[in-house]
Amino acid sequence: MLVVCVFAIGMVGGCGSPTVDPGHTPASSHATSTPSATGSAKPTPVAASSPLPPDPTLAPYLARLPHFGPPPTPQPVTLPTGPKAPMYHRLPVNQPVAFLTMDDGQTQLSDAIPLMRAAHIPFTMFLIAPVAARNPGFFRGMEAAGGVIEDHTITHPEMKGKSYQFQHREVCDARTSLEHTFGKTMTFFRPPYGDYDTTTLRAVHDCGLRAAFDWSETVNNGVVYYQTSTHRIQPGDIILMHFRPAFLADVTAALTAIHNSGLTPALLENYVSFQP
Ligand SMILES: [Zn+2]
Repeated sequence: MLVVCVFAIGMVGGCGSPTVDPGHTPASSHATSTPSATGSAKPTPVAASSPLPPDPTLAPYLARLPHFGPPPTPQPVTLPTGPKAPMYHRLPVNQPVAFLTMDDGQTQLSDAIPLMRAAHIPFTMFLIAPVAARNPGFFRGMEAAGGVIEDHTITHPEMKGKSYQFQHREVCDARTSLEHTFGKTMTFFRPPYGDYDTTTLRAVHDCGLRAAFDWSETVNNGVVYYQTSTHRIQPGDIILMHFRPAFLADVTAALTAIHNSGLTPALLENYVSFQP
């Protein structure tokens, strides 16, 4: 864990340091993970319904995507009920699945949607509500490609140590906004920077969400950062990446790691059950 955090600070976030914002720090070296022959990262947002012409930037990543069979029929984990939401860094399942998650939303590459369509895997997007609301067409396209949208606050603050009123507003207002924008019911929450306290989990529960999730592994600039020395993803692990300029490389790296670990990507939402 310590080694991972040494790597992670300044590159990945994800070890709880509020000074490193994985959502707001531009990737500084994405050129090293993007094929130099093509040059263009195409950061321009596109609507989901836009025509998608052949794109030479995408081709090397499509060629590297692993092929997966369908995930096994879920044997869901039963979530406990209140007074606070449960928090998971990995889901305690005994099935050969892992869960890919994507946070924040600021960098919306035109190649992201066709990549995820081609990958044919489910994934969960924890979005900052105002970021998502500025370009809902992009995220609807990601939904259509297999993504499910969940709650990641309004202003992406450090939650730990803040008042109940503050945390409740961040969680509930984001839920309301995302549900208004996308017409779907939010069920999960991820705290910015992975930092939370019991007040956070009370607020998550009181806002009607079922569980909160941190992560087991992170991916940045096409590199998977493992939490253990085995360098294998374990069943039930949750992989964190972001909407960053290296999105194509990060998805490819995450899926390759899942494949090399003998696992299949599955949808987090399908592997839990709760009382309605
Ligand atoms: Zn975030």
